[in-house]
Amino acid sequence: MQLVFASNNKNKITEIQQLVPQHIKVLSLEDIGCDVDIPETADTIEGNAILKASYVTEHYGYPCFADDSGLEVHALNGEPGVISARYAGSHRNNDDNINKVLDKLSNETNRRANFKTVIALHINSEEHLFTGIINGTIITEKRGTNGFGYDPVFVPDGYTKTFAEFTLDEKSAISHRGIAVKQLVSYLETL
Ligand code: IMP
Repeated sequence: MQLVFASNNKNKITEIQQLVPQHIKVLSLEDIGCDVDIPETADTIEGNAILKASYVTEHYGYPCFADDSGLEVHALNGEPGVISARYAGSHRNNDDNINKVLDKLSNETNRRANFKTVIALHINSEEHLFTGIINGTIITEKRGTNGFGYDPVFVPDGYTKTFAEFTLDEKSAISHRGIAVKQLVSYLETL
């Protein structure tokens, strides 16, 4: 079976290919000749994952899955959420995004937050959603240089180091993305 992952990130495609059952060949957007910027206009993380997966299935006819992730800070009513990548503005970088979160939390005692990944799978005229959540705390200053995004200020529950102080393998074993991917793979194993 050919299954599209609505991504052009070669590392992500290779990683998933190694986890799914052997009879499934994972294709990238490039592999199916899709070079459009698929609209991510939904106002939730779930919504954007669904938009991307359904776009590919509707326009190209392949079964497809897509992921979307973000950081949800409880005292900020779930912000930055779906706009995590551009929280400080579309021309700003990770540091600007982190600083905006830290500024907004400066007078807050509740620093609880979670990362969330939703994977939407469109297959056999059905939609399946797989959600991975990791809870933790936003610390007051950045620590660590690994990872990306908000990793330097997020300490997962049960640990004292930030995600930016985890190795990639350590992070994948417990991360929101890792949890959602495991659910997807378990489902694909039933097909
Ligand atoms: P994406 O949907 O995986 O591209 O994630 C959207 C945005 O959420 C990223 O650009 C980051 O700002 C944030 N984010 C998602 N996952 C992580 C993570 O594992 N660590 C840090 N930031 C993340």
